[in-house]
Amino acid sequence: MNKLHRSRYINVVVSMMMAFLMLAAMGTTQVHAAQYTTGTIDPAELKAGDVVYRGVQLTVDRQIVVCKKCNMIWITTGTDYGTGDMKRSEVVATEAHKDHPDKVGYSEFNWYFNLDSSGPLLKNTPYTIVENANIKYKIIYNTNGGSQIAEEKQTSLPDPLPAATKDGYEFAGWYTDADFTTIARPGQALTADTTLYAKWVEHRHTFRDEWSSNDTSHWHAATCEHTTEKKDEAAHVYGTAGVERYTCSVCKYVSETRKREAEAADKKNTESKPVKVKRTEAKDAALNSKFNVKAGKTVKVTWGKVKDADGYDVYMAYCGKDKEKVVKSVKAADSLSVEISKLKKKGINQKKNIKCHVLAYKMVDGKKVTVAKSITIHAAGKKNKSVTDAKSIKLKKTSYVLAKGKKAVVKASIVKKDKKRPIINHISEFRYATSDSKVAVVSKNGKITAKGKGSCSIYVYATNGCAQKIKVVVK
Ligand SMILES: [Zn+2]
Ligand SMILES: [Zn+2]
Ligand SMILES: [Zn+2]
Ligand SMILES: [Zn+2]
Repeated sequence: MNKLHRSRYINVVVSMMMAFLMLAAMGTTQVHAAQYTTGTIDPAELKAGDVVYRGVQLTVDRQIVVCKKCNMIWITTGTDYGTGDMKRSEVVATEAHKDHPDKVGYSEFNWYFNLDSSGPLLKNTPYTIVENANIKYKIIYNTNGGSQIAEEKQTSLPDPLPAATKDGYEFAGWYTDADFTTIARPGQALTADTTLYAKWVEHRHTFRDEWSSNDTSHWHAATCEHTTEKKDEAAHVYGTAGVERYTCSVCKYVSETRKREAEAADKKNTESKPVKVKRTEAKDAALNSKFNVKAGKTVKVTWGKVKDADGYDVYMAYCGKDKEKVVKSVKAADSLSVEISKLKKKGINQKKNIKCHVLAYKMVDGKKVTVAKSITIHAAGKKNKSVTDAKSIKLKKTSYVLAKGKKAVVKASIVKKDKKRPIINHISEFRYATSDSKVAVVSKNGKITAKGKGSCSIYVYATNGCAQKIKVVVK
């Protein structure tokens, strides 16, 4: 038993009646109320109902508030006058002390109670503790299945409150009741042992809309940093042709390995199966079918579409000894006309006649391979006064039925644009072509020879490309 307790027993008789009266007045039952007349006490030891006399000291000085009328004491946790002042305002505002504000004062505990000083409190007078903010209470953290937090003893709730975690849940705060109706306020002063209850809400990871990928699969990555969970993870989906062979149809990932393989396969295929490109009579006929040269201030050249052609080269020169040169190269397979405004680097000389032909080509290994060649058209210059062009071709007969080996001669005549002028005569008046030599051939002079069973067309062309078609059936 220490000094403190001995002093308790010495004063027990004196104080018994006072204590009894005080407790009765407070309307509480303080079974373990103690009295202190001397000695040094830990401020956290003094409980409501305890009685202290001048001469008692605290191990740590505290601001206190005293009502000298009621002889009551409030002990704060602070050491400066601010906390005492604050507490005094609180006390004066209460119903019990509103009529004696002058009697409520505050100071340091160790000064008020120092027996040797001229402190304002009376000797041999019991002062009752009504409140002590220094008393520590147990805080128990019930984490409701979350990470454990050790219990602790404090005068108030920690600020901030400790953090807890629980797999698959988000922490939703500490509550002072198990039903989560009252939230715990950080820093709140404690008046009793307290259990805090952790509230949890189920956590659902969120995921990006964009795909993440590696070389084998794709997935939606979580936007929460606490997980590496992947949503919709699956292997890439590849197709069987073109870029789909190495581009995932879902996430658009491009597999470099697959790309190399696909390109190697493509190369092997082109090597083993060379593209068959050949000029044919049918393709020539297709090119000639709409072949036309209109000479004026510009020269407009039009031709027929050749299936599978990648482009066309247009050759042109003035009639005479000049060699036809490429004046335009058309890379688009669907472009079937061009307009030429210059020849020999100058504007078109409209007095001169024009000669022109067109080649259709296909690109094979980066080179142009001719798949069709037109006839060469000779067209009168617009301001040429001496010659004219054909307007149309008249045929005596437009179809022939021939037995194999038999012959027939095409009988054609020209209708001129200008009847007074002759047709350009430095080339044959008519040129002829067949669409299929296996069925029938035609000579320079228009003599048809039936070669084999079937049907084909024989074309008759005037100098300017103006054409007529004859049907030949060989029996
Ligand atoms: Zn009072
Ligand atoms: Zn998450
Ligand atoms: Zn993918
Ligand atoms: Zn010519």
